[in-house]
Formats: sequence, structure tokens, C-alpha cells
Amino acid sequence: MKNSRQNILVVIVILLISLAAVAVGIVKYEKNASSPKPIEYGESAGLGLPGLSAHFIDVGQGDSVLLHAGGSLVLVDAGTRDGGDAVVEYLTKLGVKTLDCVVATHPHSDHIGGMRKVFKAFRVKAVLAPEIDEENLPTTSAYEKILGAIEEEQGCKASYALPGEVYTYGDVSFTVLAPLKQYDSLNNMSIVIRVEYEGRALMLTGDAEAEEENDMLDSGSELSADVLKCGHHGSFTSTSDRFLDAVGPRLAVISCGADNSYGYPHKETLKKLDKRGITTLRTDTDGTVVVCLTREGISYAIGA
Ligand SMILES: [Zn+2]
Ligand SMILES: [Zn+2]
Repeated sequence: MKNSRQNILVVIVILLISLAAVAVGIVKYEKNASSPKPIEYGESAGLGLPGLSAHFIDVGQGDSVLLHAGGSLVLVDAGTRDGGDAVVEYLTKLGVKTLDCVVATHPHSDHIGGMRKVFKAFRVKAVLAPEIDEENLPTTSAYEKILGAIEEEQGCKASYALPGEVYTYGDVSFTVLAPLKQYDSLNNMSIVIRVEYEGRALMLTGDAEAEEENDMLDSGSELSADVLKCGHHGSFTSTSDRFLDAVGPRLAVISCGADNSYGYPHKETLKKLDKRGITTLRTDTDGTVVVCLTREGISYAIGA
């Protein structure tokens, strides 16, 4: 009697283990099977899109990404000073009044130049910036002016983004992965975030280059993501092979200006993405790109 009970227990345990293995297999299968789907972006889509949407705003040469889920809004970067007009216009068109958080990835003008305009146009509840040693900051620092503008316009101070911390603003939630230390290059001081939504993930890397990517790889953090914004506007100095394989995106977005003088995106980066069969969208040729993450999969619209 005792033996048969033990046998039943063993059978149940084996069954449970196999079920778990199958379940894991299915999840993996689903993740790899469905490729990103293009969708029509109607005039009314705006903030009515399902799941978490990421709007890669066409700001010319620069970066600006609006994250939206369930009415919560986070803006990552705001382009150059001129690009700031495009950001304000786009957000106004969507009916945005308040931003739950603005992330300033790093103090370069093509990322924070438009921020003062954003602070003037919208209510901003929180600001995240990287902690940079004083000796690494440019002396005529537009950065300090921008940080001052936050206080002036919004009465709130910027907080330093801490690696490993999870920041949650309503339905928009992300982990700060980097910077993990001080670098001489300001690009490598970029705040890198992994936005998580219902089992899906999107990684925004600012202008992080191979050095910062390598430190993220060494940190053992979860790097996998369905969608990757390639670092530094598709420069060959970012999106290293090892990093790209660890992230394993199905969709990549490159934010850069049409006919920019740097030659972004570099052909080396495009080749790496193409070789891996990763759908690649570009703000210079596709205009504003909107990507939606839902439990069901990834979809995108261009020219929004
Ligand atoms: Zn940049
Ligand atoms: Zn930069």
C-alpha cells in the first residue's frame, strides 16, 4: 500500500515536471514564432493603442521616445533644441498635458536640447538623469542649465537613475540597467532602461556604446528584449554582436536624421541586424515609428 502511494507520488512529480517543461517550451515557441506585425495607424490611434506603446518621434538627428500604457506617460529624451518643437507638437497632438516622468539619458544636445521646451509646455512630475562626476561634465554645461530649468519651470528636482532599481509610473515600468560606473565618454554615461510589459520587453539604450554594453553583459542583468532601440543612432561603435545576441530583439528601431552628416546608421550595424533577420525601422526613412507591445505580440506603425 505504502509503495503504491509512493509510486503515484513519483508519477505525479514526473508529470508536473514534464508539464512545466512543455509550458516553458510553448512560451519560447510563441516568443520566437510571431514576427512583428505592421498595423495601420489611424488619426485616432494616439493614446488609444493597446498595451504599451513606444513612440519614436521623428526629431531629425537625435532621440525622443514617448512611452505610454494605461494613461501613464514617460518621455525618454527630447531631441535637439529644434527637435524640441517636434516633440511638443507631437505630444500636443496626442492630447498630452502631464508627463509622469522625463528621462534625460545623457547630457548631449541631441537628447536634452529640447527639454526646456518640454518643461515649458507640459507638467512634469519627475525627472531622471545619470549621476556624472563633475570632472566629466563639460564646463559650459547645458546639462546644468537644463537641470536648473526643471526647478524653474516645474519646481521639481531631477533624481539620479540608480542601476538595478525598478521605476514604476502607473502601467509604465522599467529597470535601469546602466550606467554601472563612470566613463570618460558621455555617450557611455547613457541611462539604459529595460521597459517590461506583460512578459514583453523593450530596451532603450540612449547613446550607449560597446564599452557600456560590455559592462551590462558582465553585470548578469536580464537583457533579453523583443524590441531594441539601437545605441547611438545606429553607429558602428554601438550594438556590438555579443550585446545584440544577448538582447535578441525581433524588432530594432534606429533614431537618426535624414542625410545626417555622421552617416548614421552605419552600414555595419544594418548588416548585423539584417544577418539576424531583425525587422529594422528608422526615423530618417520611416518618420515617427510607433511600436506596440501586448501579451499577443509586437506590432508597429510608421509615418505616425
Ligand atoms: Zn545622440
Ligand atoms: Zn550622445
